[in-house]
Amino acid sequence: VNPPQFVAALDIGGTKTSAALVDAAGRIVGRATGPTPAGADADAVLDTAAQLVRDVTGERGPALVALGAGTAGVVDPGSGRILSSTDAITGWAGTDVAGGLRRRLGLPVAVDNDVHVHLIGELTTRAPAEFSCVILVAVGTGVGGSIALGGRIHRGRRSVAGHLGHVPSPTAGATPCSCGGVGHVEAIASGPALVRAYNRWSEHEPAGPAVDLVEVAARAATGADPKATSVLEDGGTEVGRLIGGLVNVLDPDLVIVTGGVSGSGAAWWDAMLRAAWADLLPSIRAATPIDQVVVRSMLGADAALIGAARIAGERAA
Ligand SMILES: [Zn+2]
Repeated sequence: VNPPQFVAALDIGGTKTSAALVDAAGRIVGRATGPTPAGADADAVLDTAAQLVRDVTGERGPALVALGAGTAGVVDPGSGRILSSTDAITGWAGTDVAGGLRRRLGLPVAVDNDVHVHLIGELTTRAPAEFSCVILVAVGTGVGGSIALGGRIHRGRRSVAGHLGHVPSPTAGATPCSCGGVGHVEAIASGPALVRAYNRWSEHEPAGPAVDLVEVAARAATGADPKATSVLEDGGTEVGRLIGGLVNVLDPDLVIVTGGVSGSGAAWWDAMLRAAWADLLPSIRAATPIDQVVVRSMLGADAALIGAARIAGERAA
């Protein structure tokens, strides 16, 4: 009888890093999470990640066969290097994440972008193999995404495909975007953009200290703060129009919507669905109810870990 085998999974984000131990059936059987030392340097981030893997592995270390990691940034999936990255993690661009983790842990390692592994996790658990197109839309600190065609992640010529937030929005005007451009969806629909919009308004109110997205969502949920509701509705409408356009272009089986902003309440979600529906071509609108095409992530943060475990099993070297 062979001993049971496990893979380790990592989700390296700008604020926290999560590790999981995943069994041969794809189930998470152990977890560890810690803050990412994002302001230090790449070596500190890799040290933290490797330690979390050791923490979660415990005495099962000898049975660990591979490690899969999802991380922020544009990743070359072949080499496991970061091709480009925002400043969410200091010095992350150019980092050999696969090599660095392999050296620290002595394991075969596979690395991919965090949004791509999130979609791989969703595909593993809920999308039938016959689905020709599944889109993940992640709305949080930024507006990102991933597109699977024929069950495989569409990466594009430069590995950059999936940056759904950087399409022009008719309502974004000349608002500066995190990418250096102007007028993109992310510039007005990301979590920080919604918080800015709300706080700009509340400056004119006598009792208006700056609030975060959780507080804006809480105020909208009471129904007593029309401005909070309207900020969330505007953000949902932006993302909804983006999704409606994508559905017209790609006619997907499923659009999975995830990220902190998507969980900010009914005002956001309902506005998103209404706007997506309103932009659909009549032939698509007639074929399927919008809430059967555009759905919530069912795995949440676990999707990225389950996806990372999947790439560990398939591509770690
Ligand atoms: Zn942009």
